[in-house]
Amino acid sequence: MNDGVLSVENINKSFGGVHALKDVSMQIRGGEVHCLSGENGSGKSTLIKIISGYYKPDSGKICVDGNEYREMTPAESINHGIQVIYQDFSLFPNLSVMENLSINAEAARGSKIISYKRMRETALRAVEKINLKIDMKAKVADLSVADRQMTAIARALVHDAKVIIMDEATASLTRNEVNCLFKVIHQLKEEGVAIVFVSHKLDEVFEISDSITIFRNGMNVVSCKASEINEERFSYYMTGREIQSTQEKPLVGDSSRIMLETKNLTVEGAFEDVSIQLYKGEIFGIAGQLGSGRTELAMTLFGMADIKSGEILMEGNPIKISSVQKAKQLKIGYVPEDRLTEGLFLEQALVENVAVTHLADLSSKAGFYHKKEAEEETTQWIDTLSISPRNRNNLAQKLSGGNQQKVVLAKWLACNPSILILNGPTVGVDIGAKQDIYDLLNQYASQGMSIIIASDDILEIKKLCNRVAVMKGGKINAFLCGEEVTEQALIEASI
Ligand code: ADP
Ligand code: MG
Repeated sequence: MNDGVLSVENINKSFGGVHALKDVSMQIRGGEVHCLSGENGSGKSTLIKIISGYYKPDSGKICVDGNEYREMTPAESINHGIQVIYQDFSLFPNLSVMENLSINAEAARGSKIISYKRMRETALRAVEKINLKIDMKAKVADLSVADRQMTAIARALVHDAKVIIMDEATASLTRNEVNCLFKVIHQLKEEGVAIVFVSHKLDEVFEISDSITIFRNGMNVVSCKASEINEERFSYYMTGREIQSTQEKPLVGDSSRIMLETKNLTVEGAFEDVSIQLYKGEIFGIAGQLGSGRTELAMTLFGMADIKSGEILMEGNPIKISSVQKAKQLKIGYVPEDRLTEGLFLEQALVENVAVTHLADLSSKAGFYHKKEAEEETTQWIDTLSISPRNRNNLAQKLSGGNQQKVVLAKWLACNPSILILNGPTVGVDIGAKQDIYDLLNQYASQGMSIIIASDDILEIKKLCNRVAVMKGGKINAFLCGEEVTEQALIEASI
């Protein structure tokens, strides 16, 4: 045995022909935040499900509290204080917060009589532990994602958890919400709880972790202290390849050619008095947290909002971008933040997704579109963007987040826009795919495309943008340029 509260040794697990975990060992100590990282499909969730008793391992053992198990049942796992918060939180949407927090504990009592008083007390104790301010009567279905997340954490605490495993808990949270979650994690850590934090977002991982384990292809490729690894090494372990940006410094663009300009632009309830200029061949950054107005500004430039006052100029000429149709005519493209609902037809094949925006170009006058051309074009994009798997007939929903985002990008690049606006371009995207997307944007910008990136990912903005407008509370709070674009300056101006 060892000093960890929880460890696994030489775990193997296959699903049919897929060897999902290969001889995996790792150890988790109390009072530490242990980040488990790895690209999609590397085996993280499978290991978690083995620890929670959901799957049986083919071989290996699980050690907890001095006991060794060849396999664990879900009840044993919970009794040892192991709690898992899955990405979908597995809450009951139709029940109230109070019921969600207390129903398991109440059921475990085995009493035939349900005591609402007792349930309320259980629920209150749980929310107090994390100082959660929440309406106990609210239906979970009506909560924000962040509140659902917090409810799931509070529920884990009902059972006096020793180990809390969060499987991609931050995937759908904004930066502000992540900050709140991190506060709670710090507090749990102080109390000696071990946190396993599954994420592949570099900035978050380095901010919160004490230890890091990285999986690749079902193997534990490294377990070490967070201080022993840097971002380059981290990326290397995740992907197995040295990730080198082809573009070391952000592109500067041609300041003598202003492609798009806003003058004192105001959209009621969203932002006011915004004046920015986009140079030809640059990647301009609009930084800012959720609610800062950055998303609304990006959407306005794509014709998705009513302008109250101010104006927009394109290459010096005043224009009206009154609709998405108009924006497309002006050769403006837009990659939305929420690609799952706005950017992709999930139930359609890649070929339809890529071809759909410029179907008109591929259509004959009779209105029927050239299947073969669309197919050839899609295959080309699959190659250019290294979309995997390389099958244009795959449904979009079958792809990982990073590959879905590449499809959305391909769809817009295929229209050959002169201005491309991207909102949160790499949210939920693997590190390898992220770099591919950055390289691609740099490549297009250096060929003369003008690009705007709206993002709350500070590292992303810093990496790509030479000039940045930082928004806060619906206004531009700072303009940063060149050397001024530092993490510190971006954070200070946005909060
Ligand atoms: P991660 O959580 O790191 O994204 P997973 O643990 O979900 O990865 O998946 C690891 C591998 O195991 C993948 O190849 C996945 O397709 C496969 N896999 C996971 N669960 C199952 C299952 N229930 N049936 C078949 N294959 C599975
Ligand atoms: Mg997973």
